[in-house]
This record gives sequence, C-alpha cells and structure tokens, in this order.
Amino acid sequence: MTLPIYQSFINGQPLANQNGERFDVVNPATGQVIYQVEQADESVMQAAVASAQQGFKTWSAMTGLERGRILNRAAAMLREQNDALAEIEMRDTGKPWQEASVVDVVTGADSVEYFGGQASSIVGESQQIGPDFFYTRREPLGVCAGIGAWNYPLQIACWKSAPALACGNSMIFKPSEETPLGAIKLAEIYHAAGVPAGVFNVVQGDYRVGQMLTSDPAIAKVSFTGEAKTGRTVMADASRTLKSVTMELGGKSPLIIFDDTNLEQAVSAAMLGNFYTQGEICTNGTRVFVQRKIYDAFLAQLVKRTENNIIAGAPENPNTNFGALISAGHRDLVMKYIDSAKAEGARLLVGGSKLQPAGCENGYFVAPTVFADCTDDMTIVREEIFGPVMAVLPFDTEEEVVQRANNTEYGLAAGIFTADITRAHRVIHQLEAGICWINSFGASPAEMPVGGYKLSGLGRENGREALAHYTQTKSVYVGLAPLEAPF
Ligand code: NAP
Repeated sequence: MTLPIYQSFINGQPLANQNGERFDVVNPATGQVIYQVEQADESVMQAAVASAQQGFKTWSAMTGLERGRILNRAAAMLREQNDALAEIEMRDTGKPWQEASVVDVVTGADSVEYFGGQASSIVGESQQIGPDFFYTRREPLGVCAGIGAWNYPLQIACWKSAPALACGNSMIFKPSEETPLGAIKLAEIYHAAGVPAGVFNVVQGDYRVGQMLTSDPAIAKVSFTGEAKTGRTVMADASRTLKSVTMELGGKSPLIIFDDTNLEQAVSAAMLGNFYTQGEICTNGTRVFVQRKIYDAFLAQLVKRTENNIIAGAPENPNTNFGALISAGHRDLVMKYIDSAKAEGARLLVGGSKLQPAGCENGYFVAPTVFADCTDDMTIVREEIFGPVMAVLPFDTEEEVVQRANNTEYGLAAGIFTADITRAHRVIHQLEAGICWINSFGASPAEMPVGGYKLSGLGRENGREALAHYTQTKSVYVGLAPLEAPF
C-alpha cells in the first residue's frame, strides 16, 4: 500500500521540497507508519519567509473587525470538522478518541474564537501632558514563528496562531515532526475561512527546521512549546537576532491535598493530573503531597480506582480512556524513570510495567503507575517524566508543604485541595507557579492566561495578556504648544 505524502503549506498551498528528504509518521498505538512528510529544506524556508512577509502586508492592513470575522469563521469550521480532526490527532498522538473528540479540537477552536473576538478591541491609550498629548499604537510584530510540541498538536497550533493573527501578524508554524498533520489541516481551514494566502504557513520537519526559524533575521518573534532544555537553546539562538520570545515549557507541578478535603475529589484530581493523555500534559501535578492523616485512605482509594477505572487499549474504542505514549523512545525513557524509582526505594503500588493491550501489541503503552512514600530527592520527584507516573509524598504542616512544593527549578502549575478557603488562597499565593487551581485541576479556558514561572517559561498564552506578546507599542507625542528650543 502506498502511503500518503504531505508537504509544507506555504502561500495557501502545499509546497514540495527540492532535496527529496522525507520522514515517516507512526501511529503510536500500533507502531505502524501511517504517512510520510517532506522535510522543509532551504528552498521551502525561503518561500515560507517570502510568503509570510507578503501575507503580513495584506493582513495587517485589514481592520481588526475584518480579521476577527475571518477567525470566527475558522473557529466554526474547526467545530464542524471536529470528528475528522480529532481522528487525526488520535492517530498522530496515540491518545484516546474519548479525549480527542471532546478536548483537542474544541479547545483549539475556543482560542481561535476568543481571539477573533479580541481582534477589534486591540487598543492603545492616550494621555494629556500639559497642552500636548501622546497616544500609543499597539502594532503587530510582523512575521512570527510558532514551534510546537507533540502532545496537543492542533491545540498548540491554534493557541499560537490565534493571538498572532488577531493582532495582524503572519505566522510560520513548525509542528513536531511526530505529529505534523493537524497543523496542515488548520492551515487549510484558515485559508478556506478567508485568511489570505501567506498569513499562516506550515513548515514541516525536525529540529533543523526549528533552527532555521530561530536564526532567520526576517522573523520577529518565536513562540515555543516544548522542553525546558530545548527552550533554552531556542532562546539563545533567537537572541542573536534579538527576537522576542514566548516560552511554554515543562513542569514538575505540586498537587497539595489537605486532610480537610473531599477525598474523592482529591483522588479524581490526582488521577486527572497524572493519567489524562497518558500523563503527557505539561501542567500535570506529578508531585502529589498528601497530609498524613488521610494518607493511607487516599492511597487506598487511588489504587482501587486506578486498577478498576482505567481502560488502556485501542484509542478508537470509545471505552478506552488511556492511550499510548508518543514513541518507543519516549516509552523507554518513562520505563527508565520507573526503574529509577524502584531502585531509589519508592513503594510501587500499581502499574510499573509496559502494557500490550489487545489489538495494540506493538503500541507504546505504559501502565498507569503510582509510587508512594516518595522523598524530595528521588529522581522521579525532581525530573519531568511526561508519562503516567505519579509520585505520592506525605506531609505534616502547611509551612512544610509550601517549602517543599517550591523546591523545584520548575514553576508551571500547582493545585490545592482543602475545605478551608482562607488557607487555599494563603497557600496558593506563596506557590511559585503560573497556573494554579483551587479544588480543581487542569482546566485551561481560552480566557485564562497560562504560562510558567522559573524554568517553566516566559510570557503567557491565552487571555488578553497574550495580545501583549504579539504586539509592540509605538508611542506618538503630539505637540500642540509651540516647540521650545535653546538654539
Ligand atoms: P521538545 O523536544 O523540546 O520539542 C519541541 C519542538 O521544538 C519540536 O517541534 C522540536 O522539533 C523543536 N525543536 C527541537 N530542537 C530544536 C532546536 N534546536 N531549535 C528549534 N526547534 C527545536 O519537546 P517535545 O518532546 O515535543 O514536547 C514535550 C515537552 O513539551 C514537555 O517538556 C512538556 O512539558 C512541554 N510542553 C509544555 C507546554 C506548555 O504550555 N508549557 C505544553 C505542551 C508541552 P522535533 O521534535 O520535530 O525535532
């Protein structure tokens, strides 16, 4: 059977490379190659930049209302095509249909709709200074680059392009080479919705394509989602041409459960924050701190529900709620972390092995895994795993848990469960994290800015705050009084 071959999407249409290099894309649930993609070469990159420069001229000259109307049309089309797009995401990532069909496309469309609504209200300010005054203009940056991770490919492409386009920028987007198709579909939808050719371009390939983006002097900004280590490289490369950067990076977030809380809800949060999308979510609460009085009861319920309620298997089966990890390499890395936890003395309560669900024997599955009695110095407590591995740690006092929760180089997210509303806010205000949940976990609506403290990132996505990261301020001083000069 001949496999479909996809290309980069430049100036409103697919563009072939000249050097003929291609790569395979694998369905992680089966281990089978499902299509091939042409790696963008120098010729494709040059075309992408020229196309985005031209697209910027047309798009930035339109009114915000016009841009917003087009983005709203694109959001509606994303929703109309939900099932076809969700199927692409499911096959590219290995996540269950149960999730992809209600989260991935929906949350992408929400962001496009939200920023479509914002496009006509991007305003400056004005102030009187004696008889004179000044005003500010929020101008677009120009050509922006987006570089995405593989866990929420279409959603990430939407979260980057929607604010960029709302502000009048054009974008060149590079999806992860492991999940390249969603971004092409988004480009087709934007184009069909009326986004002019050249405004949203997709370049395909691995880190070499990312490097071409971060080094190109014609690109004004890079918005990156990925690992902290890669983020540092991207930022260093972008600094050579002084691009502005937004960094959405990894985490090792605490979930703090006090003994006055609703136990069932707290267990739900811990499972959601470790096993949803097989644990491949940046904001996961992978360090679960449980107050000692309820520690045993918490673990008992957690183990029971993990053993009984998680259904790993073929992602397309509507009953499956736990899918495959992105690649064999990533599965092996997650298994190494599990081995390290065993070697360092963590108590394995459930999971801890690879899985071979029926019909997916060659897929990259790892069982949902819980380690209890973890300590702050263990490797699985310090490093981001990005897989279904939960570390549970007992604690005694509020003061102690705040100190331990902050004892990490990351600062992406944090969650707290308690019935004491005063304590909830008091603790949250002391946590070094950009995204916090009280008696909830994981929700990230388009209206809410998200981003990390410390090594988890720079800048914010979503919410009105994102608009500041895709515009620059021009100040215009207007003299009404005669100009005084000593010459
Ligand atoms: P990654 O390995 O850092 O890759 C991210 C993207 O960067 C990919 O498109 C990758 O290309 C590209 N890239 C790699 N090296 C590059 C370089 N030198 N210059 C420019 N681009 C380069 O991350 P990942 O494994 O895809 O994703 C998992 C990570 O993303 C986790 O750490 C997770 O926490 C983080 N994440 C964060 C958020 C957030 O909002 N904070 C959201 C989702 C994920 P190729 O892989 O195609 O080679």
